[in-house]
Amino acid sequence: MLSKQIQEDVANSSAIRAMFTEGMELAKRVGSENVYDFSLGNPVTPVPEAFTQAMLDIIEEEKDTTKLHGYMDNAGYPEVRSAIAKHLNKRFGVSLNQRNIIMTVGAAGAINVILKTIIDPGDEMAVFAPYFTEYRNYIGNWRGNLVTIDPDYETFQPDFEDLKRKISPKTKALIINNPVNPTGVVYSEETIKKIAAILEEKQREYGHEIYIISDEPYRELIYDGLSTVFLTKYYANTFVTYSFSKSLSLPGERIGYMVIPDEMADFDAMIAALTIANRICGFINAPSLMQKAVARCLDEKTDVEFYNRNRKALYEMLTELGFECVYPQGTFYLFVKSPTRDEKAFVEAGKRHHIMMVNGTTFHCPGYVRLAYCVQPEVIEHAKDAFAALAKEYNL
Ligand code: PLP
Repeated sequence: MLSKQIQEDVANSSAIRAMFTEGMELAKRVGSENVYDFSLGNPVTPVPEAFTQAMLDIIEEEKDTTKLHGYMDNAGYPEVRSAIAKHLNKRFGVSLNQRNIIMTVGAAGAINVILKTIIDPGDEMAVFAPYFTEYRNYIGNWRGNLVTIDPDYETFQPDFEDLKRKISPKTKALIINNPVNPTGVVYSEETIKKIAAILEEKQREYGHEIYIISDEPYRELIYDGLSTVFLTKYYANTFVTYSFSKSLSLPGERIGYMVIPDEMADFDAMIAALTIANRICGFINAPSLMQKAVARCLDEKTDVEFYNRNRKALYEMLTELGFECVYPQGTFYLFVKSPTRDEKAFVEAGKRHHIMMVNGTTFHCPGYVRLAYCVQPEVIEHAKDAFAALAKEYNL
């Protein structure tokens, strides 16, 4: 009854969700205050008030409800796309226009639309490990093959030599996620320039386009005064994918966009194809009310300082206890080295102390675990004894 592909997908289905469900079961047995659940990347900071007000205002102002909730251009409302283009121009010194923006059903929708547009079965998609586990499923949707590029395991920055080795004549695109889920690493301008130079050379060598998909749902969750660079300035064949899920705490509303710069090869044909792909994928267009509401809140963001405090508290606690971890500069994740090579055993040991973590194998990086610190600060404080007991178990 079920397709072979979905049977495989179900079998490999996300360890993250499984851990979250287990955490809820455990909470029923021992009380939620006694479970330290660091499994799921679900924002906990409130949606900015300006967003809620924008929704109310829009409903109040637009008396024609069919206009408010109707179909529009598959690429989204022109005025919304124009507002986003202006916002990006001001922020990153680019010169985008409404034609460079397509509104999407989150970053997930944007990536799937791009992959549908560029992949022929058997094409290769390069991704740096460790990576957001859904990339594998998205690439599989369009029968592409994921090629894993190693990071430098000391810093989790890209290994440029491995990138050079693995970009082949079959490579269609490289997915860059910045800041990175699950490590929290941020790629600097210098890193982006090096990646761009490698891909330029490979494009020349193979005589065809190799795209970059710069996936940036965590663009605003960045600390220590850092900011990300805008990739279209460094590499013409770049798609930027963005989502308001984290920046405005709206993951359930499914709203985001993609950017396609004028410099992209065959720009007009690409835009036409992406717009149709948005429809064919079944998204049709991004949610109408959400488009209008985010357009009024482009300078808003959720309480990033909340995550910053959690970042410091969890990092300091774990490193003082003897755990090893790269200090994250973005996202709300910490990627901790498992004290034993078999990180799945470590995750199981954590569960016995009511700590829920996700194994690194999920992100194609065994030997590590991911902790999502989008939790109330008390969860971190109260988890201290449990982590101390876990550290003792591993003689740290
Ligand atoms: N890309 C990365 C790296 C993510 O972590 C996520 C979600 O967590 C997505 C894409 C999908 O984002 P959205 O749910 O906003 O579409």
